[in-house]
Amino acid sequence: MTTTIPSAPIGYVSKQTGMRWVPVIGLEVHCQLGTRTKLFCGCAVQFGAPPNSLTCPVCTAQPGALPVLNREALDLAVRAALALGCDVREQSKFDRKHYFYCDLPKGYQISQYDQPYCQGGGITLSNGRRIRLTRIHMEEDAGKAIHDRGGTTLVDLNRAGVPLIESVTEADVTSAAEAVEYLTTLKAILQYVGVSDCDMEKGELRCDVNISMRPEGEAWRTKVEIKNLNSFRFVEAAIEYEARRQVEAYESGDPARFPVQETRLWDPAKNATRTMRSKESAHDYRYFPEPDLLPVTIAKAEIERLRGCIPELPHARRERYQKELGLSAYDAGVLTSSRALADFFEAVARLSQRPKEAANWIGNDLAREFADESFGVLDVDAMAMKPHDLSELLRLLEEGAVNVAGARKVLRVLMKDGGRPRELVKTLGLEQVQDEGQLEAWCREALVGKDKVVLDVKAGKEQALNALLGPVMKASKGTANPERVKAILLRLVQSS
Ligand SMILES: [Zn+2]
Repeated sequence: MTTTIPSAPIGYVSKQTGMRWVPVIGLEVHCQLGTRTKLFCGCAVQFGAPPNSLTCPVCTAQPGALPVLNREALDLAVRAALALGCDVREQSKFDRKHYFYCDLPKGYQISQYDQPYCQGGGITLSNGRRIRLTRIHMEEDAGKAIHDRGGTTLVDLNRAGVPLIESVTEADVTSAAEAVEYLTTLKAILQYVGVSDCDMEKGELRCDVNISMRPEGEAWRTKVEIKNLNSFRFVEAAIEYEARRQVEAYESGDPARFPVQETRLWDPAKNATRTMRSKESAHDYRYFPEPDLLPVTIAKAEIERLRGCIPELPHARRERYQKELGLSAYDAGVLTSSRALADFFEAVARLSQRPKEAANWIGNDLAREFADESFGVLDVDAMAMKPHDLSELLRLLEEGAVNVAGARKVLRVLMKDGGRPRELVKTLGLEQVQDEGQLEAWCREALVGKDKVVLDVKAGKEQALNALLGPVMKASKGTANPERVKAILLRLVQSS
């Protein structure tokens, strides 16, 4: 591993001493490949199946059972590497990584050690800093040990042998915010290229953080590993906590308190990290080449074939939305934050022929509802609304059949329960009054005794009309179209 010290002028300024401390952070991310079957056997990969129902002699390590590499897993791993700008090796190999634990029936994990299938690559953050990848390697997952309260441990081997890639960065990350941006971008890229769903609740993406604090301009100090973080919020909180803990320890001047090389766990209930194991108990994995598997050979032509299958990536889409559709960098960023959202946006934009309106509604209204946990629709996949529904809603708005406030109500129903927009407008009583005579009558009523407004408008202050909009909307019980009401009011005033 190279050891360049990040040059960013950021960090934490100590309240006590005024000294600037810079975090040195590296990230290791395990991502589950979206294959149908496990890495070295034909068992299905499926979340939530009955315990030990997805097992065979290979993944339960019966004597004489031999592993066979899953071609689909290799293809997905290579796609991930290419999307992240890594160099894929034509020759790599698998190794045995030994440790003893009840969820690992073989007593070793098949992984890649000194010859991973790819190296290099990286992700550039919005502040222009590049987080370099050291390597990505393939490995199999272990099973799951469930320690129950009675002191019994239950083992479920459904997960044993599930294919993973582990990506390891250089220690280029210098803040919690950078870590979160790197992880968000990594997740989006892996989803875009169809390598993984990256569902963190199912453990399909898990992150380890290596962090040490150094005074600005000084050399690195002892690093601490925080393991198994399964949400970006926890990553952020754990880095903030650990940065503070280490600085406080050093500034106490008491060597007994100084950070030691160890593995720690994040405890969300206590909002703190705690020791899991110290260096003394660190594993010696006794790596050696896996004798039951041939070295992995990936032909150059095959790498190029897979490169040709890489779809447009988030940053390219972001640029296209800005250039071709005139969207702001912020909106383009929101829309491309996941492939599902970007695909949804493009479908609505195409169907409705109104890309700007589609971007507005998806980037603002949909995003706001996704962020509202009490609403209970967290992302595009969890949503009942289809692209043609939103497209139709945009058309109804354009026709003036519903106003913006009404459309928002329809949108919420569509997102949660689905339905047909035009019918929902009716059943929710949101139809706009199209009767010009009725609208004019309400407007005339609102104008009674409003001579000051009339004078102001005639003097060129059109915005004075806004004072009359409320009474008309109230009289119509919200079913008038504000734009049409404004136009009628203006006409009435000007002809008076
Ligand atoms: Zn199996």
